[in-house]
Amino acid sequence: MQNKPKAQNASLMARRQAAIPRGVGQSHEVFIARGENAEIWDVEGKRYIDFAGGIAVLNTGHRHPAIVEAVKAQLDLYTHTCFQVLPYEPYVELAERINALAPGDFAKKTMFLTTGSEAVENAVKIARSYTKRAAVIAFTSGYHGRTLLTLGLTGKVAPYKTGFGPFPAEIFHAQFPDALHGVSVDESLASVESIFKNDVEAGRVAAIIVEPVQGEGGFNIAPPEFLQRLRALCDQHGILLIADEIQTGAGRTGTWFAVEQSGVAPDMITMAKSMAGGFPISAVVGRAEVMDAPAPGGLGGTYAGSPLSCAAALAVLDVFKKENLLERSRQLGSHLIASLKTMATRNRCIADVRGLGAMVAIELCKGGDLRQPDADMAKRLCAEATRRGLILLSCGTYGNVIRILVPLTASDAIVDEGLGIIDAALAAIQVG
Ligand code: PMP
Repeated sequence: MQNKPKAQNASLMARRQAAIPRGVGQSHEVFIARGENAEIWDVEGKRYIDFAGGIAVLNTGHRHPAIVEAVKAQLDLYTHTCFQVLPYEPYVELAERINALAPGDFAKKTMFLTTGSEAVENAVKIARSYTKRAAVIAFTSGYHGRTLLTLGLTGKVAPYKTGFGPFPAEIFHAQFPDALHGVSVDESLASVESIFKNDVEAGRVAAIIVEPVQGEGGFNIAPPEFLQRLRALCDQHGILLIADEIQTGAGRTGTWFAVEQSGVAPDMITMAKSMAGGFPISAVVGRAEVMDAPAPGGLGGTYAGSPLSCAAALAVLDVFKKENLLERSRQLGSHLIASLKTMATRNRCIADVRGLGAMVAIELCKGGDLRQPDADMAKRLCAEATRRGLILLSCGTYGNVIRILVPLTASDAIVDEGLGIIDAALAAIQVG
């Protein structure tokens, strides 16, 4: 009897293309066979270091033993009931722990969903229900998801919004503050005020949603002063402030929530991604009276807050404490920034190195000129890094930002090996 031929990346890609719509994009043509902490091995046995972390999902790495153990234990008890039908303690315990972690000296409540987009959708529903107002303000270059409401909030057309409109009404975009690219905090806040003048009166705005550090938009960091003034503006007009911490949350930026570093307490925070170390769950945490606005039955979802994901998320919280991962995030971030800044001295194309905690990025521009984003170089750098055994991800309005989302649990040696590959790949693509 003949053995089935071993799967190869190329043949699997051909099957993928035949079976799956092209709209489901693909940044790397590498099929994973196994992952462990910050390393993966593909179906051909090649090893890679993972600086992508499944887009910010693996702050605790691939298959953290404590998380795997918690999920296995849960598998042996029950895997699904639908929380609204038969409740279970892990959901309640997780809500209690997240309520205690979220900033703000007021009573909080938390609900769980499955994806980040769903968390954002629910935050908007809750804001509308509480304020009895309709409009929502989001920011340019923001990313809030791929469902129709969240696409409406997302501030980038291609490839996310192209061909999918119309989007829900009453969504407006203000300018995100980005001094590096010419938008000051004053200008950003003035653009919110101009929405009140040109588009909708402040008294009809339910919520303003903002990422404390824009993820897909290019790791643009909202200055603390901006978040503080936005909070004051919301308070002035009875508007709820929602921090979308789906990419920044779960310790990526050196605190559990990035917004903590500004001293601002949002009315609601959305989170997902790394909160359960690779298991699908998202959350909305917020002021108890706001969260309680929708009537019973108005919120929920069949799989929302699955027992397996709740068990994983509880284990993630324990791992953060046991392994001191918030401190590790800050220390790793300083190390990444210092190493990348050294690389920037040798590579003019690195126009900026920025980050908050371990949420770190480099911006690639022609001749280091911030007005000339070099998306082509970002693509070539990702491809060359893959060839050399490092998984990298780009982001940014112009696709010219390389973001680093390496697991916080990665060893210094692995992190430095990955940085060495970026350095070598940069040299290779600029010569070649
Ligand atoms: N908000 C932010 C800030 C995100 O980064 C993302 C995902 N990249 C989302 C929302 C949407 O999350 P999901 O893909 O799980 O729906």
